[in-house]
Amino acid sequence: MNAEIIAVGSELLLGQIANTNAQFISARLAESGVNVYYHCAVGDNEERLLETFSTAEKRSDLVIITGGLGPTKDDLTKETAAKHLGCSLSYDQESLKAIEQYFIQTGVPMTENNKKQALVLEDSTVFFNFHGMAPGMLKRHHNTTYLLLPGPPREMKPMLVDQVLPYLNDQKTDRSSIHSKVMRFFGIGEADLESRIEDILSEQTNPTIAPLAEDGEVTLRVTARSSDLKEAESLVNQMVTVIEDRVGDYCYGYDQNNLLQKIILLLEQKRLTIASAESLTGGLFSSEVASIPGASSYLLGGMTVYSNEAKQSVLGVPGDLLNQYGAVSRECAEKMADQIRTKYNSDIGISFTGVAGPGDYNGIPEGTVWIGIALKNGMNSSFNLMLKGDRNFKRIRAVKHGIYALIKLLEEETGPFVVKKD
Ligand code: ATP
Ligand code: MG
Repeated sequence: MNAEIIAVGSELLLGQIANTNAQFISARLAESGVNVYYHCAVGDNEERLLETFSTAEKRSDLVIITGGLGPTKDDLTKETAAKHLGCSLSYDQESLKAIEQYFIQTGVPMTENNKKQALVLEDSTVFFNFHGMAPGMLKRHHNTTYLLLPGPPREMKPMLVDQVLPYLNDQKTDRSSIHSKVMRFFGIGEADLESRIEDILSEQTNPTIAPLAEDGEVTLRVTARSSDLKEAESLVNQMVTVIEDRVGDYCYGYDQNNLLQKIILLLEQKRLTIASAESLTGGLFSSEVASIPGASSYLLGGMTVYSNEAKQSVLGVPGDLLNQYGAVSRECAEKMADQIRTKYNSDIGISFTGVAGPGDYNGIPEGTVWIGIALKNGMNSSFNLMLKGDRNFKRIRAVKHGIYALIKLLEEETGPFVVKKD
């Protein structure tokens, strides 16, 4: 099955919003083994929409349209689709009831155009909108399946994942199974990684291997197809082992377990707490860690100590140390980590100090970063990096390097955090 995604909305063409719906839908379809061959964005204009539908129908089995299902005049996806398909629109009673209920409950007067949201294409399969008002719908026309989804991502995503994909899967006549696994790498560039597995990449057929690089992280998605799910899983696992033999040292996790998920998981497993002292990163580390559900049990808190004055008076880094070595130094990083760990009485203290730029600072080159890690047993360590890119890129990268170092430390087979088995 090959698919195409049409995003409707003039705001997309004006650059007011990014077409993240196409990205999300494409990723989910790829996981389900559906090939997406085209993305298209079109304004709220009947003539151009009709033209787009005609083109799509000639080349795609599944045409997914997002946006323009709302109550306002510029929302004309359904009306235009009905015209193109030569069918009428009728009220979906369940959606209509829910819309009326909403207005009764909130006490807001309901206007006539709100009813319009409950209109669906004649003889279509309707997907109730649990997060908004306009339902989604699927209709076959000759050999093409049209799928209409709401534009707001918070409505579209659950509808696609919870209702549409299971529905499409049930309808499938080709019973082949698809299985995939994402391998996550850090500390190795995309080009380096690819060159080390070049022969494997060039020979790939089943499983296929898709590399993706983002903010210093590289992932490989290994996908296999087979008539039997067990067989597909086994093909994927075999390939993952082959790749691990080459570059396993840099592979820190799989599937949804990105750096942040992984560090929270490890802290949870080992029942360890952490606190951070941040200069260069200005609170980004704690903000990132706090974004993961469950962080509150492990992240005790932290300080943003940007100025030398704050490092000294708030965190307690000695003035002599700052004078002698400077704020961007091994000595300062380790002291910062040690001080924050002591203040919070956490198992781990981590610190970030560096020169974000633009320009050098007191003779220290732009991009120099020191990360300190202090442990309860008195062990203090640190490492430095030379980062490129703009200020924020450096800050993001520094946080990732810090998290990666923690992951490595927590995973050591003979380190300070080995959980005794008995
Ligand atoms: P509504 O009932 O909210 O009007 P709708 O189905 O008519 O929903 P649109 O009017 O096209 O959808 O878009 C509503 C909002 O959804 C947009 O302002 C935008 O924030 C978001 N949105 C729409 N299309 C996309 C897209 N392709 N990618 C990301 N966000 C989108
Ligand atoms: Mg709208």
